[in-house]
Amino acid sequence: PFHESSVGVTQAPTEELRKSGLKHHVPPAKPIFIHPHTGAHISWQRLKQDVHRFADGFRNKVGLRPDPLQAHNRYTVSSPVLLHLPNCLPYVPIMLGAAAAGLSVTMCNPFYTPGELLHVMTTAKPAAIITTPAGLPILKEAARQLDDKDQARLYKEGGRVFVVDVTHDDYGLYNGLPKTITPNVGRDGWVTADYKWLLGEHVFQIDEWSPEEAEKRVCFILWSSGTSGRSKGVVLSHRAMVASVLSQRYSTPWMGPDEVEIAFVPFFHVLGLACVALLAPAIGVSIVVLPRFDLEVFLRLIEAHRATSIHMAPPVAVALAKTRLLGEYNLSSLKGLSSGGAPLAADVIRTVYERLGLLIKMGYGASEACGICGQVAETWEELEPQLGLTGVPMPGVIIRIVDVDGSGRTLCHGEEGEIWIKSPSLMSGYLNDPQTTSETLTHDGWYRSGDIGKLEKTGNLQITDRMKDMIKSSGFQCSPVEIEGVLAGHPQVADVGVGAIYVPEDATEHPRAYVVPMDKMALARSLEDNKPSIELITLAEELKKRVENKLIKYKWLKGGILFVDQVPKNPSGKILRRLFKECKGVEVQLY
Ligand code: AMP
Repeated sequence: PFHESSVGVTQAPTEELRKSGLKHHVPPAKPIFIHPHTGAHISWQRLKQDVHRFADGFRNKVGLRPDPLQAHNRYTVSSPVLLHLPNCLPYVPIMLGAAAAGLSVTMCNPFYTPGELLHVMTTAKPAAIITTPAGLPILKEAARQLDDKDQARLYKEGGRVFVVDVTHDDYGLYNGLPKTITPNVGRDGWVTADYKWLLGEHVFQIDEWSPEEAEKRVCFILWSSGTSGRSKGVVLSHRAMVASVLSQRYSTPWMGPDEVEIAFVPFFHVLGLACVALLAPAIGVSIVVLPRFDLEVFLRLIEAHRATSIHMAPPVAVALAKTRLLGEYNLSSLKGLSSGGAPLAADVIRTVYERLGLLIKMGYGASEACGICGQVAETWEELEPQLGLTGVPMPGVIIRIVDVDGSGRTLCHGEEGEIWIKSPSLMSGYLNDPQTTSETLTHDGWYRSGDIGKLEKTGNLQITDRMKDMIKSSGFQCSPVEIEGVLAGHPQVADVGVGAIYVPEDATEHPRAYVVPMDKMALARSLEDNKPSIELITLAEELKKRVENKLIKYKWLKGGILFVDQVPKNPSGKILRRLFKECKGVEVQLY
């Protein structure tokens, strides 16, 4: 039904792949998840066994069950288990254990503030939460703020909170321990247990589902602000996840158990989840699990573990392009680098190739499409003329460029429009948000990405702009509306809008606020002097602190504040973020 040249390359995984693609021979003792420093690991065999034991624990010790299938609904969520964890050794075994028990799993950033965690808890209503000693006080504060007191009681006294001591996640230590672990009752009345308590003793028999069940049952709930508004739960079915892994497997046939990946991309984000946490164990790749990125540690680990592949967000690619440390480590084991989550400039890809002789493959993806929608050339000669493009669609994915005039007209190659995506791994919808779901997923199954781009004749996609209200800071999403909400609560703020500013040196966008102060005199004086008055500087400092107290670090106003006399809006009051760049005002840099 659409113009030939605007159709993405599509090649669904073949029947053959479906049958045999993931049945790689992985030696049972092969380490899959490896501690970066102690060398402790979870072997392939151990992983399989633990997934079954965690499933048994969730079902038979905690007593969580899949809900009856609601065939008339788009999806069925079952007693979500919230993983409030940084990358750690037991992350994937717990996650897959809950999924194998037929439960839905939701993962969130462990560094969220209590307010941000509260939003996840109210939206997803987790039936059990896995956290860390550092995460526990944040969780307690969020639970205290819950309106639903029964839900709050469940976490405090109901034996539903489990703790992974990430400083001692030497996975080998728990042998034989589960029976001796007893829940801990704190002086504040909170009942928690070590996560090892969750390990059941039996090998759990995983339910066999019909294709309909696999499509309707929710496997994961990720968090994305979508095209506008606050963060929403992105509902991904079991079918979507399997399709995502198969599609990636199909396009990386050379990957096998000899690969070693250093994984610092967070498993709670689609890039870490789909491309590392799920794909790697399916193939038998070893994963050195890192809770956070540190350039020197990272380079040392590449040498120590003879790492072959790395997934990263653009700021890490820039760090590689700039660092003086490259010569100090032997990085010759590396075969390939992949960057995703945000655009990466062509000159960074070129510099890294010149310095390391390695290609960075840029992928385009979104939580809503569950993984990557692009695969690029494998050699420098082929890649060079296409630097900055995000490649051709993955197997099973169709990309269509649609006119933004609302006509739904499909555009030809070379023409710029909104990127629409169809694939078996699309989300089923936003959690409990039918309206936004119907605005984002069309009745005939297309996902409207809110990104602007064009398709080359070769089928390569180029992302050129973004029409949705989203800021991508260091690969993470910030919702401008959320930051505006925090700023608007200050009594000295008359009006406010938040937009993105791209900082090439950091290879990222940063949030920047456009603030109309109550104190019009101070603004007038500052405009006249062309420098901020003491009142505006004080206000800027207060706003900076306010954001730091309420929001996670990547949402801080690193793009500064511009004090303006009005925020550009249309007649119905909608903020016109595209006009921010034309705003005149007085600037205060905060960092
Ligand atoms: P997330 O769900 O956090 O992965 O965010 C998805 C959004 O990130 C996309 O809709 C794009 O706006 C942006 N994005 C992801 N990958 C790229 C890329 N390679 N180039 C430009 N933007 C990207």
